[in-house]
This record gives sequence, C-alpha cells and structure tokens, in this order.
Amino acid sequence: MTMKKKPFILGNWKMNLTLVEGVEFAKSLRSAVCDESGIICGICPPFVFLKDICLVLEGCGIFVAAQNIHSEKNGAYTGEISATMVKEVGCAYVLIGHSERRHIFHETDSFINAKIKTALSVNLKPVFCVGETLDDREDERTKYVIRNQLKEGLHGISAGQINELVIAYEPVWAIGTGKTALPEQANEVHSFIRGVITDGYGKEIADSVYIQYGGSVKPENAKELMTQPEIDGLLVGGASIKFESFFKIIETAAKY
Ligand code: PEP
Repeated sequence: MTMKKKPFILGNWKMNLTLVEGVEFAKSLRSAVCDESGIICGICPPFVFLKDICLVLEGCGIFVAAQNIHSEKNGAYTGEISATMVKEVGCAYVLIGHSERRHIFHETDSFINAKIKTALSVNLKPVFCVGETLDDREDERTKYVIRNQLKEGLHGISAGQINELVIAYEPVWAIGTGKTALPEQANEVHSFIRGVITDGYGKEIADSVYIQYGGSVKPENAKELMTQPEIDGLLVGGASIKFESFFKIIETAAKY
C-alpha cells in the first residue's frame, strides 16, 4: 500500500463558462483555497481564458492547466496551440490523452506519447489520462487496455521524468454519465496502474506518482473515493464548473 499523499484536485471545465464567469470563479477559488496547505488544487480553463485566469491565480499556489496541446512546438498547424504557448501564459500542467480527445478527436497513443514528451521538454507537467470503455470492461479487457495505454503513452519517458507527470484513471463509461466507478473498482485499477509503473520504473518511483480518479466525481462521492488507499486525487469535470460543488469536493478531499 502506498503512503497517502496531499490530495490533488483538478477541475476540467471543458468547453464551458464565459470569460467573466471563469475569472469570477478563479477569484472565489483564490480567496477560499489560497495557502490551504492540505491540498494541491488546479483548474483547466479553455485556452482563451488561460492568461486572465493565470493572472488572477498568480502566486497563490493554485495551478492552471491547459486542456490540450499539439505535439509540435510550433509550425504550420492552423488552429492548434503549443506547449510553449500555454507555458508562457502561466500554465503548470496540461491534460493529455483525455477520453474526449481520444474518442471524439481520434487521438492515438503515439500522438499522446509525442505530446507528453513535448510537454515535459518545456517543463509543463502532463496529466496523462487513461481509461477503458464500457465494451472493454464488459469484455474483461480493462487491464489489457490500460497497460497498453500506459506502455504506449509513456514510451521513451525516463524514470527521472515520471514524477513530473500525474496519471488520471478515467473510465470512459463514467465520464459525464453520472455513473461513478465503485470506489473499490477504481482502487483496484489504480493499484494495477501503480503495478505497471513499478514494473517499468521501480517501486519507489511508482509509489510517489500521483494517480487521480476521474468520472462523475461530485461532492457526494468525494469522500468514499478519497478514502481509497490508491487514490491520490480527483479529476473533476461537470462538478468543477460550479464553484460551490468544486469547493465542496476540495474541502472533502482535504480531510482525507
Ligand atoms: C473529465 O472531464 O475528466 C471528467 C471526469 O468529467 P465528469 O466529472 O463530468 O465525469
């Protein structure tokens, strides 16, 4: 069993909120959570809000993450945003391999791997998302799929770089559906993920890697998820758009 870490709660706003609402949210978060030493917390606003939100949260220890980057650092990729760009406006993290990117935008494991390498090369920390579909789970392929996503996504990533990233286990069937994985089910997969990292990088490194759970997290289930020994934090989608529910999740997580 791994040592419990300071919980890491990250809110993914997806394509929601207006700039005014986002800035107001960030101000509320700053006054409620700033200097809260029991928790690591951050939000993933849409690209065009990043600079404003980074300015609001500057110096208070709340992280801002981009929701995506391209794998190339610059070039003729109309409509894309690079790791260097989001780093320059103040982001510390970036979501990579989110299931909506994998499934709606057909991102492959090798593209995800290239993005992880590019993010790390500019000191942007990837939040690397993995997770099985409902079909995978029903066909008892969960572990096979997750091992593969980890193996391909982390190809060429050194032991020294592993602690620079966060892994998020997000079962696709639980994202935005209201269905949460049972805490024990999630814990079992987290333990499996840690085992795969142990095989590749050793136990000490695997124990220190943050593994977040994501998939219909809400204030009502935050406690039972956070009390699982292998769950180090939560990646929150729908419930992170309203300050009240996101803050309740943060408050709950800070206790466990
Ligand atoms: C997510 O977007 O990463 C997510 C887990 O969404 P939700 O909490 O809405 O299921």
